[in-house]
Amino acid sequence: MGLVRVVILRLGHRPERDKRITTHVGLVARAFGAEEMLLSGRDPHVEESLNDVANRWGGNFSLTSDVSWKGETVRWKESGGKVVHLTMYGSNLPDVISEIQNCENILVVVGAEKVPAEMYDLADWNVAVGNQPHSEVAALAVFLDRLFQGRELCREFEGGLKIVPNPRGKQVLYPEYCNNKEE
Ligand code: SAM
Repeated sequence: MGLVRVVILRLGHRPERDKRITTHVGLVARAFGAEEMLLSGRDPHVEESLNDVANRWGGNFSLTSDVSWKGETVRWKESGGKVVHLTMYGSNLPDVISEIQNCENILVVVGAEKVPAEMYDLADWNVAVGNQPHSEVAALAVFLDRLFQGRELCREFEGGLKIVPNPRGKQVLYPEYCNNKEE
């Protein structure tokens, strides 16, 4: 047994206020090892930004918009997956992460505006990344890093631009089909 699939559910996105932060939730989800983000709502700006990054930088990350948060959560649980809701009110991360690491399929829920009370009941774990208010972007990054124990930082993304780590300059390898060498 081991982790198989991590999907992020972004709740309560408000297009007029949350464009950048929801895009950043998606970027962190992709870069830190999740496979997909489900968005309860639709925002062409978020879709365009995340699809553009996924196309240029490779890997298989996808965004699905306009989902029913409750429908997806219930379906996930019915298919045997576990649900982790990130909230400053929950159990503190260090106290529960070892239990969560035993799961195979995890849906990680992050809010924007006030999260419906029902989510707290549906979640298998309500988890705080420290019991202080901060940001969904920070909470997700720290949670995924603890979940994968840092291994996600060494992951390769197939089929896109590649950065060659360099202590000073910038070095990027371009796939053969890529005409635009600006980055
Ligand atoms: N007022 C909202 C509520 O009552 O749920 C919280 C808004 S907060 C800016 C947006 C999201 O950031 C939360 O839904 C939660 O997912 C995440 N978040 C903020 N601080 C957190 C913390 N300390 N631990 C875990 N998640 C946190």
